[in-house]
Amino acid sequence: MDRKDMPRRAEAMELKIRRTMAALEKNNMHAYYAPTSADAVKVVESLLQEGDTISCGGSVTLDATGVKALMRSGKYNFLDREAVATDEERQEIYRKTFSADAFLTSSNAITENGELYNVDGGGNRVAAMLFGPNKVIVVAGYNKIVRDLDAAAVYVKSLTTPANAMRLKLDTPCTHAACPGTDGDMCAGCRSENRICSLFTVMAYQRSKNRVHVVLVGEEVGY
Ligand code: SF4
Repeated sequence: MDRKDMPRRAEAMELKIRRTMAALEKNNMHAYYAPTSADAVKVVESLLQEGDTISCGGSVTLDATGVKALMRSGKYNFLDREAVATDEERQEIYRKTFSADAFLTSSNAITENGELYNVDGGGNRVAAMLFGPNKVIVVAGYNKIVRDLDAAAVYVKSLTTPANAMRLKLDTPCTHAACPGTDGDMCAGCRSENRICSLFTVMAYQRSKNRVHVVLVGEEVGY
């Protein structure tokens, strides 16, 4: 690409972000634009109160943006599943999360129609996004914006899940070759005991305006 075209690319990217933010607002979710990861941390901080009980789902984005460091700053009562040693303690944190003040996470994909599309293996993350914590704060890089739910289904099984399976050192077919089912059929794919594409959720129009807050970052972050 010619270097002189780069500003136009940035402009088009911001237009796409603004379009998605408008659609999220229409779906009764608050949307924020953070040009950089550092700005995203400031937005998240403004949405939390010192002393809040907070929790989060597994997320590369929260680590990479610095939001996880904010969560561990000591200002909050952080239910930190990475700070416990046993599976029983982790399960207890998952259950306590339902009564947290705020749940922080990313979203596997966000459509230009203002929908949050997520796929889980165990379900603790999507469950808390759907129900429980008073506030849900979603932080996502612009690279996760896709046209619609069909595009989201393809994106997640062809990129997000293989990358997460590799990160978690899980032996699934998609860590060796393409997933055998990326066409939107939810049951398609592997029959691996390590499969992490089991629980599919879409958050569309929200009944409560003040619960879901989406921070879109103008940087490529997470996957
Ligand atoms: S269905 Fe299996 S192979 Fe396909 S993306 Fe999910 S875990 Fe990977």
